[in-house]
Amino acid sequence: MNTTPRRLWLGGNWKMFKTIPEAIRFIRDLKAGLPPSPTAEIILAPAFTALQAAARELEGSPVLLAAQDVHWVEAGAFTGEISTRMLIDAGCSYCIIGHSERRHWFHESDKEVHEKLKACLQAGLKPVFCVGETLEERENGKVREVIRRQVLTAVANFSEQEMTQGVIAYEPVWAIGTGKTATPEAAQEVHALIRRLLEEAFNKRVAMEKRIVYGGSVTPETIKGLVSQPDIDGALVGGASLKAESFLALITEVQA
Ligand code: PEP
Repeated sequence: MNTTPRRLWLGGNWKMFKTIPEAIRFIRDLKAGLPPSPTAEIILAPAFTALQAAARELEGSPVLLAAQDVHWVEAGAFTGEISTRMLIDAGCSYCIIGHSERRHWFHESDKEVHEKLKACLQAGLKPVFCVGETLEERENGKVREVIRRQVLTAVANFSEQEMTQGVIAYEPVWAIGTGKTATPEAAQEVHALIRRLLEEAFNKRVAMEKRIVYGGSVTPETIKGLVSQPDIDGALVGGASLKAESFLALITEVQA
């Protein structure tokens, strides 16, 4: 059982779904069903276009807003990109960095992930830093090597204070959007590995304070088993975050 003082964290990643009116309708339904003091810190990551409207609709609620990506330069000639200042301006407190869909479809490298993390931390935007192996890497026994590389390259030269900001999301690529959730035990093994890497790169305090959440086909049926593991501090959820009803069911499942 997870008995640490780390507060549970539950994030909904909407990916490229929901127009502004759809986002507003979801948030109204969510607010109507939300417990007055949610046990978990709750985060929603709409598309860029819906961020500002979502921020207005979330005012006065405990739910925080995240962006799904950011560019690492503060301002400049980067057509199509968005900076940390713009995200904060739109009402974001978190930003997803290094999601496997960005690594895969947009060829984002570990070095770029590092730059994005650095930009977020300097701007005061909390990162949701994603790592995870592909099925091929898992089948070839490369999980430890891949996670080690992704984590250590990304966090190089950060201070302890920076490192405790935000969360790390372990998202095995083969589990994202496939309906194949990792077993709680298999996920726990990698979460414990990530904590050991943080101890190696920083110290025990950073390792123990950092929240490490799981992502990959999490549903209201599977979340409890996952967060019962000692090193799993919540979940980043795609599909099951798209309907207010199932997102509320996830919140209820982890409510103390
Ligand atoms: C995700 O997009 O981060 C994710 C975990 O998606 P899903 O829950 O749909 O697998």
